[in-house]
Amino acid sequence: MKLISKLYLVEPVELSRSLELPLSVTCFSIYFVVFHLVCAFFGISDYWKLFRKYKLHDSDEMTYLQLLPRVLFNQLVFFLPSCIFAEKLGWAFRTPSQETTFPLWKLPIFLSLFSVYEEIIFYSAHRWLLHSKWGFTLLGHNVHHRTKGSVGISQHYMSMIDYFLEIVVAILVPLAMIRANAYFDLLIIVENAILGPYDHSGYDFFLGSLKRYSPVNHSMHHLRSSCSFGDSVGSMAILDSLFKTSFFHFGYQSFPKVKNDNKNEKETKVT
Ligand SMILES: [Zn+2]
Ligand SMILES: [Zn+2]
Repeated sequence: MKLISKLYLVEPVELSRSLELPLSVTCFSIYFVVFHLVCAFFGISDYWKLFRKYKLHDSDEMTYLQLLPRVLFNQLVFFLPSCIFAEKLGWAFRTPSQETTFPLWKLPIFLSLFSVYEEIIFYSAHRWLLHSKWGFTLLGHNVHHRTKGSVGISQHYMSMIDYFLEIVVAILVPLAMIRANAYFDLLIIVENAILGPYDHSGYDFFLGSLKRYSPVNHSMHHLRSSCSFGDSVGSMAILDSLFKTSFFHFGYQSFPKVKNDNKNEKETKVT
């Protein structure tokens, strides 16, 4: 009984009723807490030099605390209001009811659909807008590329337009297309809160055994800019395979040296 009552603490519908908050705000709050716990885990691991066996590189100069203000600004000023807006329009965070409840066998279908929709938006915007000659600076993708993929919290260190395209639109539009319910939407954003920072952490806890789905992909993107445009961990990486733009299609086998006054310059082999 005690366990069940504790589970209600993270049950979004019960929680939103007891706190008298919109469901979208409750889901965002759970997402927010998970994201910052995960980022704190990576921040503490970096600070105390834990799990060094799994750390691929230390290319970033900016620290967790330097990145934090912009990340908080993006999440609270863009993502939270967008979640509320999506709920108000009935696009996402819909209250679980007879109409919105779906059988469990549909879950893998919805997860696959989300992954495909998200990848199409993310990859297209990332490769053809944000990395276009005119768009890289104009749309502010250079801000995200000041980070090098070795500090977890840098996932949300972005300019406003970049954040809107690659986080807000890439997550909420697929959810609006699927129109499941708040449980599914929460599952998706919490998954993103765990895998996004992992992708930017510079750690690979599977040490290359999940090559295509390793944070190596996104680290390589941050360090070389011309490869691996998709989300790596958690995505199906269909478009990088289709367009042959993963780092290994270019034969890259190591991270390039980066100028970093605080840390030793090194070239790390990844395969
Ligand atoms: Zn990134
Ligand atoms: Zn990029």
